[in-house]
Amino acid sequence: MTGFLIDLDGTMYSGTRPLEHAAEFIETLQKRNIPYLFVTNNSSRRPEEVAEHLQRITRIQASHEDVYTSSQTAARFIADQNQGKRVYMIGERGLELALKEAGLELIKEGDGDIPDFVVSGIDREFTYSKLETAVGYILSGARYILTNPDHLLPNERGYSPGAGSLGGAIRTATQTEPVIIGKPSPIIMEYAIEKMGLPAKDIWVVGDNLRTDICGGAAAGCRTALVRTGVAATHDIDAAVHQLGIKPDQICDHLMELTRLLP
Ligand SMILES: [Mg+2]
Repeated sequence: MTGFLIDLDGTMYSGTRPLEHAAEFIETLQKRNIPYLFVTNNSSRRPEEVAEHLQRITRIQASHEDVYTSSQTAARFIADQNQGKRVYMIGERGLELALKEAGLELIKEGDGDIPDFVVSGIDREFTYSKLETAVGYILSGARYILTNPDHLLPNERGYSPGAGSLGGAIRTATQTEPVIIGKPSPIIMEYAIEKMGLPAKDIWVVGDNLRTDICGGAAAGCRTALVRTGVAATHDIDAAVHQLGIKPDQICDHLMELTRLLP
């Protein structure tokens, strides 16, 4: 059995534009009963919203069960540590709900003791006050978790700062390295592999980003396929391969080329 862990932005769609042959590839997997899971570093949306967004743009059938986010992974990782349930969060609704669903207790500033964890993701209402609270807790001993390291997110005008950029302020102030959850961290890959229920060597990690998708997939022992869309459409792949010292097992122009990997 072969399975696929597939990136979304830059791989299935670019902003609100569907990418060529991406929907056709998923429909092929569906017809042939080949397991797949969409793995996204985006921590702001709930899995249901991610699936709706994907369905609206690409017209493929998708449900929350087909999606695995960095927020779900962060929540599960914290719960798995058994080092307490109290969490101070900087993030949006997707992260908040994932933490609550995992049985964790979200605390507000001034809610008594130091929390066990500080977790940060993208927060478009990030403020100095939130930064100050997070930094104070980490310096007092809370463990720092970062949903995903992305510095920049593509938007219609160019780029906006991602979770990694907000986390940069926390790292600098505390001089503390966070546990990073999203790609290229093997943490999100390992949980996604477990959810898929196949050995890593039988899973292809597919994405447009060498630094996150391909490095993360390779670190988790999966096979990797870089698609020349999204980030990879504009970057010099040979130079990036050389710089990162990591080479995808396959490089393709669009997802339908991957059907040749099917058993
Ligand atoms: Mg991508």
